[in-house]
Amino acid sequence: MTQPLPPLPATFEADLGLDLHMHSTASDGALSPCALAEACQAKGVTRFCLTDHDTVAGVAEAQRHADSLGLRCLAGSELSTLWRGIGIHVVALLPSGAHGALEAGLAAQARARDARAEEIAHRLEKVGLDAALARAREQAGSERPLGRPDFAKALVAAEVVPDIPTAFKKYLGAGKPGDVKTHWPYLSEVVEWIRDSQGIAVLAHPLRYRLTHRKRGQLLDAFREAGGEAAELISGHQNADVGRDLARQLEARDLMGSQGSDFHYPGGPLAPGVMSAPPRCSVTPVWRHPKLATFAA
Ligand code: AMP
Ligand code: MN
Ligand code: MN
Ligand code: MN
Repeated sequence: MTQPLPPLPATFEADLGLDLHMHSTASDGALSPCALAEACQAKGVTRFCLTDHDTVAGVAEAQRHADSLGLRCLAGSELSTLWRGIGIHVVALLPSGAHGALEAGLAAQARARDARAEEIAHRLEKVGLDAALARAREQAGSERPLGRPDFAKALVAAEVVPDIPTAFKKYLGAGKPGDVKTHWPYLSEVVEWIRDSQGIAVLAHPLRYRLTHRKRGQLLDAFREAGGEAAELISGHQNADVGRDLARQLEARDLMGSQGSDFHYPGGPLAPGVMSAPPRCSVTPVWRHPKLATFAA
């Protein structure tokens, strides 16, 4: 993590070669951690954070490979949490890695995913997908904890639905039979785990929860109150007007801003480093956090 690179600027700018939210085969991404590092290099992304769902299992491999390519890879994870019954994702930026309460928390998240997968499987069996757990496991192609995308692929493979979006729309999306989220810990608890590992808690994609402006404000308040320090100002492709509104909400609360593609697989609209341009704003970039001084320098 000490490769010489031009330092990051003090404000948000377009095309920084910086992506702080991406997935690999350690969760529901299509590329191995090695292949992801190579995709970053191909796209001119020189600094990145690997943020697989509820795990840091891919980080060591990504960091080793990034090092060999002259890139910087920050440890991270995207944790599943609950706030007022809504599934909320929190990105942990982990310059000191995961230990103590966070390490234990990630182990608990893996067990929660196992229990949840069984429950999702039961529910999908009731609506006509037999042996749902085995089918999802086959789609995952490894022993990693299962997620809803594995069940979505199983529904497509069994020809219950024509494609992944329909699988979410009918069976796995918010309020549908396979949307099981009762296993996740409360938002504030997860922020505590991250702080205990000297990490930075970042509210993931605040515009993707379908909240009103007012309720999003309440979520940002609750997150900050819990010890959260930043939110993703930019996540993949987003609407410019709503992005400006979000910037005002972060400025008003003195929350820092992060940016990431939330890249999962090649061939779609996203790639490492691909995201909307930043709005004109005075939001402090999260890479100015003292804990990220080495990463940003
Ligand atoms: P899980 O972590 O098991 O709750 O699964 C959530 C993941 O499913 C997200 O991180 C996305 O990768 C994927 N996902 C969620 N909603 C959709 C959707 N409507 N279409 C396709 N993929 C989705
Ligand atoms: Mn995902
Ligand atoms: Mn997410
Ligand atoms: Mn993500």
